[in-house]
Amino acid sequence: MTRLVWFRNDLRCADNPALWHACSQPSEPVIAVVYDCPQQWQKHGLGPRRIAFMRNAMLALQQELQALNIPLLIIPAGTFAGSLNSLQRLIVQLDIRSVSFNIEYEVNERHRDIEFSRWCRRQQVEVHKFHDQCVIPPGEVLTQQGQPFKVFTPFKRAWFNRSEAFYQAPLPRPQARSPQPELQQLAAALVQPAPLTAEPDPLWPADEEHAHQCLQNFAAEQMSRYQTQRDFPALDATSRLSPYLAIGLLSPRQCLHTALLLNDGLQTGGKPGIDSWINELVWREFYRHLLVAFPDLCKHKAFRPETEAVPWREHAEDFAAWCEGRTGYPIIDAAQRQLREQGWMHNRLRMISAMFLTKHLLIDWRKGEAFFNYWLMDADLASNNGGWQWSASTGADGAPYFRIFNPTSQSQKFDPQGEFIGRYVPELLPITAKNRHEPDSFQRRQCHYPPVIVEHKFARQRALNAFKNSLNLS
Ligand code: FAD
Repeated sequence: MTRLVWFRNDLRCADNPALWHACSQPSEPVIAVVYDCPQQWQKHGLGPRRIAFMRNAMLALQQELQALNIPLLIIPAGTFAGSLNSLQRLIVQLDIRSVSFNIEYEVNERHRDIEFSRWCRRQQVEVHKFHDQCVIPPGEVLTQQGQPFKVFTPFKRAWFNRSEAFYQAPLPRPQARSPQPELQQLAAALVQPAPLTAEPDPLWPADEEHAHQCLQNFAAEQMSRYQTQRDFPALDATSRLSPYLAIGLLSPRQCLHTALLLNDGLQTGGKPGIDSWINELVWREFYRHLLVAFPDLCKHKAFRPETEAVPWREHAEDFAAWCEGRTGYPIIDAAQRQLREQGWMHNRLRMISAMFLTKHLLIDWRKGEAFFNYWLMDADLASNNGGWQWSASTGADGAPYFRIFNPTSQSQKFDPQGEFIGRYVPELLPITAKNRHEPDSFQRRQCHYPPVIVEHKFARQRALNAFKNSLNLS
C-alpha cells in the first residue's frame, strides 16, 4: 500500500508526526506532496517575500526527502480548491490508500480538510491527522468549568499543569527508505509540476538545518540572558526563530526540548532566562488555542465585541506615514523601517508601534494587522491577531484600555543609547543619543526629519475619550 504525506505548514523532516507515521512501515512505499498556492496566500494577505520564503523551504524539503528516498511533488495549485482537486486526482491515479497530514487551525484550512476527509471516507482512503503546531493541542487546556481561557496568566498556569501529560521528546527524522524508482517515475509521469523557483533570501535562509543551527546557537549563547536582554531591540537578544516556527521548519516541541535540556524540568522555577523564553513559547500556544476556541478571530472580529463600537479614524495620510516610518517619533519610524527592510520587527517594538497606530492615531487595528501580515516573515494569523488585539485593547487581555505607551519614554527606556534608532533612522545619527528619542524642531529641520504627526498628550486623551464613550464608561 502506497502512503502519501501531505505537507503544508510543517516543512520539515524531523519531529514531523505525519511523516513519521507514514514511514512507520519500512516495506510500504511513501510519497509526499506539497501545494504551491500563491493566489490563496495572497488572498490571506501574505507578501511576496514571505511567499518566496515558503517556496524556498519547499525546495529545501524536496532535497531533504530525496535523501530519504521519498519523492516530494511540488504541485502548482493556485488556491486551496485547486489543491484539493489535484490531490484527489493524484490519490486515485497512484492508488493511495493512506494519507497523513498535520492539522492546520485556521478556518479556511479547516474547511478544506473537512471536505478532503469526507471525500477520503467515500473513497475508503485512510486519513491520519496529527497535532504538531502546539506542544499541547488546542482544546486541551481549559478552565475547571471546561471553558477556554480568555486571559494569559491562568492559561499559563493550567498549561504547565497539563504539560507533563503531553510533553514528549521530539521525534527524530525517519530512516532513509530503500530507493523507490518506480514510484518516482510513475509520479513524475502523472503530474508534471512546473519547476518551482524562488530567489533565496540571504537574511532568511529557508531550510531545516539552518533553523536548527539558529536554535542551537541561541540556546548556547543567548538563552540564559534572555530575561534581562529581551526587551532591548539594539541587542538582538531574542531568537528570531518566529519565521521558522511560522512555516514549520521548526516545531515548538523542538524549541521547548532544547530549552528544557538547559533547565531542570517542565515546571517554572528553573533558570530565569530559560523560564522566560519558555513563557514566550506558551504565549504562542495561548493565541493558537484562542483561535480554535473562538474561530471568529479568523474573520477579523474583535475578541471583545463591545470594542467594535470604537470610532476608528479613517485617515489615509496618517496611516501612510506610519507604514512608511515617517511619524516623527524616531522609535516608531525605526521599527517600521526595520519591518520593511528585514521582514521582521522586535517584539517590544511591535507592541509600541501597534499601540501607536491604534491609540495615538486611533486607526483600526485590522489595518495594522494586515500591514504586518504582508511584511512579516513570521506572519501568522494567531500570533499577529493576538498581538494586535492585545495592543489595541480589543483582545484577550486583563489590562484596561487606558494602557497607552508613551513612545518617547518607551524609547528612552528600551533603546537608551538611541542605537537602534540610529541603525534604521540614520538621518538622526548626527544628534546625540540623549536627544535622539525626541529631537527638537531645529534638529529635525537640520536632519530633514519630520515633525511629530500627532502630539502625545492630545492623542492619549483622544484615545481615552473614544474608548470611554464607545464603551459607555463614565
Ligand atoms: P523570541 O523572543 O525568541 O521568542 C521565542 C518564540 O516565542 C518566538 O519565535 C515566537 O514563536 C514565540 N513568541 C514570542 N513572543 C510572542 C508573543 N508575544 N506572542 C506569541 N508568540 C510569541 N509573532 C509571530 O510569530 N507572528 C506574527 O505575525 C506576530 N505578530 C505580532 C504582532 C504584534 C502587534 C505583536 C505585539 C506581536 C506579534 N508577534 C507575532 C509576537 C512576537 O512579537 C514575535 O513572535 C516575536 O517578536 C518573534 O521574535 P523571536 O523569534 O526573536 O522571539
